[in-house]
Amino acid sequence: MQITRGIKLLFLVSMVSIVASMFVGCAGNTSELVMGTNAEFPPFEYIGDDGQPDGFDVALVKEIARRMNVGVKIENMEFKSLIGSLANGKIDLIAAGMTVTEERKKEVDFSKTYFTANQMIIIPVGSEINSALDLKGMVVGVQEGTTGDIIVSEEDVDEKEYDVKEVKRYKKGIDAVMDLINGRVEAVVIDSNPAAEYVKSNEGKIVAIESGMEPEEYAIAVKKGNTKLLEKIDKALTEIKQDGTYDKLIKQYIQ
Ligand code: GLN
Repeated sequence: MQITRGIKLLFLVSMVSIVASMFVGCAGNTSELVMGTNAEFPPFEYIGDDGQPDGFDVALVKEIARRMNVGVKIENMEFKSLIGSLANGKIDLIAAGMTVTEERKKEVDFSKTYFTANQMIIIPVGSEINSALDLKGMVVGVQEGTTGDIIVSEEDVDEKEYDVKEVKRYKKGIDAVMDLINGRVEAVVIDSNPAAEYVKSNEGKIVAIESGMEPEEYAIAVKKGNTKLLEKIDKALTEIKQDGTYDKLIKQYIQ
């Protein structure tokens, strides 16, 4: 008698924990959005003083989730792993200063855009590089898998516009900048806002110049076909822009 009760109890407890685990911290559940990011891209995402991810994208997704009445869990990973993690269901959305590109559109669905950025060229003070054309024959650092990487790598490009000597790919933009300061690369091509942050924290050593490359639009990405989530994100984004929350977040994190 006792044994059967014990077994029943054990069964009940394990069922409860199995069901509970289905709802906690896994992408696709309705009570929590799992945001994938690469917290190496200030001011959009970085690790704050308290050891937790913070930044414009983090605050934006928390605001979207609040309006959807769900929580947020953040999965921090390499930038180049984000799209794969979305496809295999590890995360529900990507918010990582991700630029909308035709190639990426084949793999993910993008929300309305929320920010316009440019590629900048960071160079050491005193460098002879004055424009993107001067990158010809240079060793250039980029963050792996980003638009900066794609543009200067010029794979499948017949007439190379930049024609760099070598592209060095880093997991973190800051590591590319450190190698620039140490003379291991001659320039770093990276998005405008992180470029400004890196220059600010290394004043007197490096400067950023315009690249003249096409402006880029950031958006949130969801798994291809997840229109249900996309519609909710777009609705929240529209509200956030209209009611002044967007401007507040820009002031708080970017200006
Ligand atoms: N905007 C760039 C891209 O989408 C860089 C993003 C990033 O490094 N987080 O590739």
